[in-house]
Amino acid sequence: MNNFLDFFHLLDKKGKTFRPKKRFTHGTIRYSLHKQAQASLQSGINLKEVVRLPANENMNDWLAVHVVDFFNRINLIYGTVSEYCTETTCPKMSGGSRYEYFWQDGEKFKKPTPLPAPKYIENLMDWVEGQINNEDIFPVTTDIPFPKTFVTLSKKILTRLFRVFVHVYIHHFDRIVSIGAEPHVNTCFKHFYYFVTEFDLIPAKEMEPLIELVKQICKD
Ligand SMILES: [Zn+2]
Repeated sequence: MNNFLDFFHLLDKKGKTFRPKKRFTHGTIRYSLHKQAQASLQSGINLKEVVRLPANENMNDWLAVHVVDFFNRINLIYGTVSEYCTETTCPKMSGGSRYEYFWQDGEKFKKPTPLPAPKYIENLMDWVEGQINNEDIFPVTTDIPFPKTFVTLSKKILTRLFRVFVHVYIHHFDRIVSIGAEPHVNTCFKHFYYFVTEFDLIPAKEMEPLIELVKQICKD
């Protein structure tokens, strides 16, 4: 299996994901953008270039497509380690000993709350899923405008999704390696990293836990 997208299709078929994949509606601009973005990955060209906004495309559409694609892929990646990520193995949502994340959603968790990693990630993925399934935020057709808060909210979604990479890389990398997923997860991470840095979507301090990884794999 050489292709990175084949790997994700296989995971998807195996039903390793713990929540359904968010799909784009056929016949919409966003569906064709999603297909276009996937096709450019398949051909293996420079990831730094494929993240750039294509001429005459709308930034919000481009952002929406990537947020949803990254959510789907990160969901599959976490699915491959989730049976090893328990309240016993991971009592904190950490990225090594120096970083710990507290969950806050303003509803169930009004204050930043320490949670075991699997609970934190469950809340995080539920929250992201709720945002992308909300058609007032992620409109299904292009005649409905994006809300004014769309970019701010997308930044928050991507910042939170990044924390799943942090936890998986720092605490569950052995599992990723043992199933042969390392190159695919690295490609997904690289794509994510180039996308968020191209449009300045995640604060630099959030990326600190994976700075060594970035130096190693995001140099071309
Ligand atoms: Zn864990």
